[in-house]
Amino acid sequence: YPFDMDDLEEKQLLGAGAYGKVIQYKHKPSNSMVAVKRVRINMDNLLIGELAVLEEAMKRGKCEFIVCFYGSLKCEGEVLICMELMKYSMDKITENVYAIPSRIPEKQLMHISYSIVQGLHYVKTVLNVIHRDVKPSNMLIGLHGEVKICDFGISGKLIDSIAKTHDVGCRPYMAPERLQPDEDSSGYGILSDVWSFGISLYEMSTGTFPYGHFKNAFEQVTRVVEGDAPKLPEDFPYSDCCKDIVHSCLRKNQYERPNYVQLLKDKFLKDYKLANDDMAAWIKTLTL
Ligand code: ADP
Ligand code: MG
Repeated sequence: YPFDMDDLEEKQLLGAGAYGKVIQYKHKPSNSMVAVKRVRINMDNLLIGELAVLEEAMKRGKCEFIVCFYGSLKCEGEVLICMELMKYSMDKITENVYAIPSRIPEKQLMHISYSIVQGLHYVKTVLNVIHRDVKPSNMLIGLHGEVKICDFGISGKLIDSIAKTHDVGCRPYMAPERLQPDEDSSGYGILSDVWSFGISLYEMSTGTFPYGHFKNAFEQVTRVVEGDAPKLPEDFPYSDCCKDIVHSCLRKNQYERPNYVQLLKDKFLKDYKLANDDMAAWIKTLTL
């Protein structure tokens, strides 16, 4: 539906990221709640192309694994992106915002992984876009346990322009080949997103970030580019399937990583349906 600032009533701040903030509003005409991402922009890096992606996503109709886009608005140095309001986000779970352990149980993680890979695959094959900002804060969960990916249309050019002005250290999910692109590296490919997915999986399955805390961008580049790929601890309590998928996504040579089609056939994702009932029960523990 077409939306207008006057239709919106501010409710609460949902969070803030590198490009702006996300606020919950009530859309008065429909009496429904929406999430609005407010991105500060200077007019020369207008997000026309990026918004076109979101509009395309809207026209294409539904994919159950991506957050719905409702419309956008430009006003006074800001772009407002109106989208479906989701209940929980994976970053808040790993950061212990809810009263549950930050480590996500294995069955639920299977379900989450399946949904995220399906969403990323859809974005790539149907919308022809590479996400470029895969991380737990862009993985959202609805009230009934549905898992969706967000921020896929606005990540591309925006990320590059932000990267120039901000410390790269605020983007710790970045693949080695992106931190130090070699001369013949031909643009951003999905395999770099697969790395970011691997880092996210590591974080969600252990409750900790694999590299600890980077002191600065130099340390990040040194450790990610020159160091060994992260390895799960010996006493990792989940199955070998889980361990294997994390390690396969975290191969330093991008060409050794699985693509989405391969990931969807992975043992860890294939049995995601086993977790359907567990998902709803787990969501209830979040609401407490
Ligand atoms: P980030 O770069 O950390 O993803 P964002 O500005 O995209 O920063 O998002 C900030 C926070 O807002 C996220 O942590 C997420 O929890 C929340 N958020 C984003 N989109 C939605 C949404 N559609 N529904 C509910 N919460 C959201
Ligand atoms: Mg985000």
